[in-house]
Amino acid sequence: MAPVPSDIEIARAAKKKPIADIGAALGISPEALVPYGHDKAKIGADFIGSLQGRPDGKLILVTAINPTPAGEGKTTTTVGLGDGLNRIGKKAVICVREPSLGPCFGVKGGAAGGGYAQVVPMEDINLHFTGDFHAITSAHNLLSAMIDNHVYWGNALDIDTRRITWRRVMDMNDRALRQTVTSLGGVSNGFARESGFDITVASEVMAILCLAQDLADLEKRLGDIVIGYRFDRSPVYARDIKADKAMAVLLKDAMQPNLVQTLENNPALVHGGPFANIAHGCNSVIATKTALKLGDYVVTEAGFGADLGAEKFFDIKCRKAGLKPDAAVIVATIRALKMNGGVKKDDLGTENVEALTRGCANLGRHIANVRKFGVPVVVAINHFISDTDAEVAAIKDYVSHHGAEAILCRHWAEGSAGIEELSYKVVELAESGAAAFKPIYPDDMPLMEKIEAVATKIYHAGEVTAEKPVRDQLKAWETAGYGHLPVCIAKTQYSFSTDPNLRGAPEGHVVHVREVRLSAGAGFIVAITGEIMTMPGLPSAPSAERIHLNADGLIEGLF
Ligand code: ADP
Ligand code: MG
Repeated sequence: MAPVPSDIEIARAAKKKPIADIGAALGISPEALVPYGHDKAKIGADFIGSLQGRPDGKLILVTAINPTPAGEGKTTTTVGLGDGLNRIGKKAVICVREPSLGPCFGVKGGAAGGGYAQVVPMEDINLHFTGDFHAITSAHNLLSAMIDNHVYWGNALDIDTRRITWRRVMDMNDRALRQTVTSLGGVSNGFARESGFDITVASEVMAILCLAQDLADLEKRLGDIVIGYRFDRSPVYARDIKADKAMAVLLKDAMQPNLVQTLENNPALVHGGPFANIAHGCNSVIATKTALKLGDYVVTEAGFGADLGAEKFFDIKCRKAGLKPDAAVIVATIRALKMNGGVKKDDLGTENVEALTRGCANLGRHIANVRKFGVPVVVAINHFISDTDAEVAAIKDYVSHHGAEAILCRHWAEGSAGIEELSYKVVELAESGAAAFKPIYPDDMPLMEKIEAVATKIYHAGEVTAEKPVRDQLKAWETAGYGHLPVCIAKTQYSFSTDPNLRGAPEGHVVHVREVRLSAGAGFIVAITGEIMTMPGLPSAPSAERIHLNADGLIEGLF
């Protein structure tokens, strides 16, 4: 078999249709599309508003086992399954996140799928795309500038500048900006204070854009952002700074979902991309809801493994947006299961059924967990060339003993032809009426108990610990009226526990909540366990060193 060309070579060879044709297939008239070039368009707000009376299609979540550092192919499988459903005659729409530009120049590579399951134009999607991240960055930094300006002109709100929590953002991996001192250089530059930069996807503005129902809701949530505290410790809102309305103006176009196509000319909405640790890690609510009106099946993904991504998709996005998922696909790879079974990264290419079977405990836990939300499950084995028949048979056997089915998928190498079996199975599950979605904890539970519910039911922890200041803070937020919010737990994606090296299916571990943060605009409480990075750095030899334009002016090296 000939080797598969690189992602960018495959993407460049795509026979794309004009974006108006992709829209027309979904019943979107040309006037309802705002084209960004020939192969990208935003869907107009009026048209989206006009869809409200229509019935919803079925919602399918693609999630995964605890991953290897390279990712397990959730995006690739989401795109592949969307193509597969269209291939078997279903009207399916894909909903994925917009990649962050910064990591493309580091190690991770892009996030538009891979092999023969990609959304295109992949260079645009991975880089500037339709400018949404630029708009989010600008809206965020407008608020930052207005805060310092307020302090400069007399600080009428009595803001304690040591307690300003709102930082600045940019869409770049730049560790040099993690901690900064601003307003240096004398009286005319304001009051010097410590601050810093996060990457744009970590901005609360990104989480807000992804959870807002419409422009009015967007503006309200922007006003609800807590930017810091007064000397009397009372919160200061973006509304107090009078920044919310201008921020909404900057985000007006970014709020509209982006329509693109797959390599097989099927529709995909690529919109929003919040961090999956300090935020909920799913594409926008507005894109998902629009897709549900336009297609009979909507395939979407959530970040990281199911302990983080699916849990937040269910407990934050679906709960808050009133979405009811009909089925879930858990992506598993033989290499990640072997890693969960104790195999070192360099040995993943060697057959090892014994380690694989040990690692399957991780998969088994995720299957049981997703079912706790009342959503039926099927396992997709994302096939890698190094997988052996004995290994594939071992997973299938394991999963069948857990009352589910594992299906071998070759969409990365073959496109939709390689994922037909999974497509039929997903239709069967979604149409079976077996789904009875319910979040894992109720709205009216105390915040600490919500954290404990996720830690014990999903992570199988024995105990949750937190220092008194953390517990007091949670109580104070309950008193201030935030007790009904869901919790967003920031934890390593590599383990059910807070220790990235504890793979498989650990039991009875301790989850220590180090810090809690209020994202009042997005509408959740962040509980931080372990270290989390909100501004990544670049590796010693970043991929930026290899990315260039060739003699024809085409991008090379974008993996
Ligand atoms: P995730 O969404 O889980 O982070 P992606 O779908 O982005 O993962 O895939 C991560 C990388 O792995 C991509 O570069 C993709 O091309 C590659 N990949 C995915 N599936 C396969 C496969 N079956 N064989 C080889 N490479 C794959
Ligand atoms: Mg992905």
